[in-house]
Amino acid sequence: MSSDNCIFCKIVRGEIPSRKVYEDDEILAFHDINPLAPVHVLAVPKEHVDSMATLEDRHAGVMGRMMVLAQRLAADQGSPDGFRVICNTGRIGRQDVYHLHLHVLGGSNPLPGMIARST
Ligand code: 5GP
Ligand code: ZN
Repeated sequence: MSSDNCIFCKIVRGEIPSRKVYEDDEILAFHDINPLAPVHVLAVPKEHVDSMATLEDRHAGVMGRMMVLAQRLAADQGSPDGFRVICNTGRIGRQDVYHLHLHVLGGSNPLPGMIARST
């Protein structure tokens, strides 16, 4: 997928609206359009990267910063006592949007167990 047609690149460029919750030079975070928990935000690198499977050593900094950011995103959105980070990767990981993103989920008490979806 080229960045021209990538949904999340379009969100980064402001061509598709999103409900932003955080932005800096290299990261954007916004509400998932189809939330699966009371808190469900996505954090993306502004640079297009397909998935965790195509990360390179030079991405270590931004990936680390996204992981460090997760606690703040969760707390800011109302889940200060914990959260879950998911990064679906590739066909096996059932990734739908091929622009790397961390799902930050929280706000329910507690979240459902892992891998609950049956289909
Ligand atoms: P994946 O299955 O690739 O890990 O998750 C993609 C996520 O992106 C889904 O949770 C889906 O609801 C979300 N999503 C897809 N299109 C859009 C969009 O245009 N805007 C926002 N805010 N979220 C989107
Ligand atoms: Zn992209």
